[in-house]
Amino acid sequence: MSEIWRVAVDAPIREALTYASPLSGETPVRGSSVIVPLGNRTTHGVVLGPGTPSSEFELKHIASIEQDYPVLPSFYVDWLEWVANYYLHPPGLVAATFYPPLKKLEKARKSNRPPVVPIKEAMALPDLTPEQTQVLAQIQSHQGFAAHLLFGVTGSGKTEVYLRLLETVLNKGQRGLVLVPEISLTPQLIHRFATRFGDQIAVIHSHLTERERTNQWWEIVNGNKKILIGARSALFCPIDDLGIIIVDEEHEPSFKQDEKLKYHARDSAIMLARGAKCPIVLGSATPSLESWKNALDGKYKLHKMQNRVENRSLPQVQVIDIRNLKNNKTDLPPWLHPQLFDAISNTLAKKEQVALFLNRRGTANIVVCPACGFTHECPNCDISLTLHGRSHLVCHYCDYHEPAKQMCPDCKEGEMTPLGVGTEKVEEDISALFPEHRVARADRDEIQNREDLESLVSQMENREIDILVGTQMIAKGLDFTHLTLVGLVLADVGFNLPDFRSTERSFQLITQVSGRAGRHIKLGEQPGQVFIQTLNPDHVSLQYAINADFEGFAKQEILSREQLCYPPHGKLASFRIQGTQLDRVQQASKLLAQRAQQLKGRHTAYEKVEVLGPAEAPLAKLRGQFRYHLLLKSDSIKSLNPFCHQLLGDHGWVPPGVRVSVDVDPLHLL
Ligand code: ADP
Ligand code: ZN
Repeated sequence: MSEIWRVAVDAPIREALTYASPLSGETPVRGSSVIVPLGNRTTHGVVLGPGTPSSEFELKHIASIEQDYPVLPSFYVDWLEWVANYYLHPPGLVAATFYPPLKKLEKARKSNRPPVVPIKEAMALPDLTPEQTQVLAQIQSHQGFAAHLLFGVTGSGKTEVYLRLLETVLNKGQRGLVLVPEISLTPQLIHRFATRFGDQIAVIHSHLTERERTNQWWEIVNGNKKILIGARSALFCPIDDLGIIIVDEEHEPSFKQDEKLKYHARDSAIMLARGAKCPIVLGSATPSLESWKNALDGKYKLHKMQNRVENRSLPQVQVIDIRNLKNNKTDLPPWLHPQLFDAISNTLAKKEQVALFLNRRGTANIVVCPACGFTHECPNCDISLTLHGRSHLVCHYCDYHEPAKQMCPDCKEGEMTPLGVGTEKVEEDISALFPEHRVARADRDEIQNREDLESLVSQMENREIDILVGTQMIAKGLDFTHLTLVGLVLADVGFNLPDFRSTERSFQLITQVSGRAGRHIKLGEQPGQVFIQTLNPDHVSLQYAINADFEGFAKQEILSREQLCYPPHGKLASFRIQGTQLDRVQQASKLLAQRAQQLKGRHTAYEKVEVLGPAEAPLAKLRGQFRYHLLLKSDSIKSLNPFCHQLLGDHGWVPPGVRVSVDVDPLHLL
């Protein structure tokens, strides 16, 4: 039996440390939760396995084994080490993510949340569609680990497939994990799981109190609950008899955490399922190109559902060119085309609901001086301020506020003029155009917590709202029976971001938004309608979105990325260098680039690692920090991963006042 152990210690140390067994005579095992001495304090750690003593340091003993916490299942320990290595994060900090924020209370206090709906006696389950039947049979024909990509159009019944898969897993005595983007963890979704599985489900999301989160954790760890539904962090709640993982809306960028441990929950979930030897199902109407390519290459099994359930029709999508809208001699607001206005009027006349999307908050995009061109910029960020209401300028990155001025503070001659449109302005104009109808707005200014969103959803369901104006906050997952018209006010908002994924994101957003329209209209009836207003009617994302042609889009977009070896062809890692003093940031960036070039020469496997930069990040200053980045590209993670480890080194080379962090498979290059 081993006397020496490798322990991942809750501290920013890049390696596991070695300790001897406790003096008490107890022996830990792999996955044990322990208290260890570190410097002149003690801290928490997780035992990774037997170790060898280091001759450099005096060997200390593990102080105690925390018997309160269960031993992490072995495949979670493997996975923990994989996460730490792949994302270059200290293993002890990854390990710490596994534990609940508070101590266990012996008697869980009663939550004031409404109880979960119990299972209905002998429910009449819907008959599966032929596509659902086929997909289920195919998925269930595989034993052990297999990654499945379920590509199904919006409303094709993917959720029903998940429910049936979970049922089978529960019948085998195993349990399931369902990951969804935080924003789609709506009461609608939880209700669907609860009507099927009653109080066998636990839910973890970021709006829980620490006590609620702790209680949900124990409910799973003690085996009281059989299904865990949660946002990305639910991945870190150990489920010993894991029988399936489902990742819904797998393309959603919010599965990637972009601070501290910069992990991608979907990709990490694949590794966890591999370790648990169970299937994983990734579902989407617009799969990420990474997953799509994996499916085309045969790494994932591809399943398609191309029809909506009960032959309900897909919406009709029309693009409206608004380039010459200003010349229209109408009384309509400058952002609204008469065609969309007519469609709104007709829909309301039929007592149906309308949703208008715009991915930009506020009343105006920017406020400019027509005399000298001055615009207000945030003092902390390199970003112009956005007008909210009539009197407030706000930074959308750091939330800096200042009162709006009427006259230009720079030339003192021009009158500051709002340009562009935001959700607040759309709401205001629409309310004026349709005074008899009830208008509501859903964006980050209006909807600040889960309760706000829940009440908005129930108002929509009860038809207390006729027109819903919102950002992408309402683009995902929601299903309203009487919503038949969707308008995208300005599709162009996301077209020109300096990011190679901006076209893919636009295509996804347009498809998701369109998918909200007419979800319950039967074949033969007038289908739901979608109008997309744009200044770029020829934009490639629109051309494919109007025909709901994901595969066509994916083919051409994958091709266009091939030449530059962008994902899904190559792998990226981005190093961010930031600090409050520009000269130090620049100095550190140069140093990092030099280190990278030297490293390339040291190993033949590194020759193919491309080093781009250093360059000023597109958001060159954010929250008072100057930002530079260095981008690494390689055809394989096998060379990129060790390269990153060596490049980061021991941090000893980093000048004081500068922070260097690495993001593997970055989703945002801003
Ligand atoms: P998706 O997740 O693919 O967008 P959903 O699972 O939300 O689709 O299904 C769309 C709607 O169809 C839901 O209201 C769901 O209850 C219903 N539904 C799903 N499967 C069936 C079926 N086999 N028969 C009838 N209705 C179904
Ligand atoms: Zn700011």
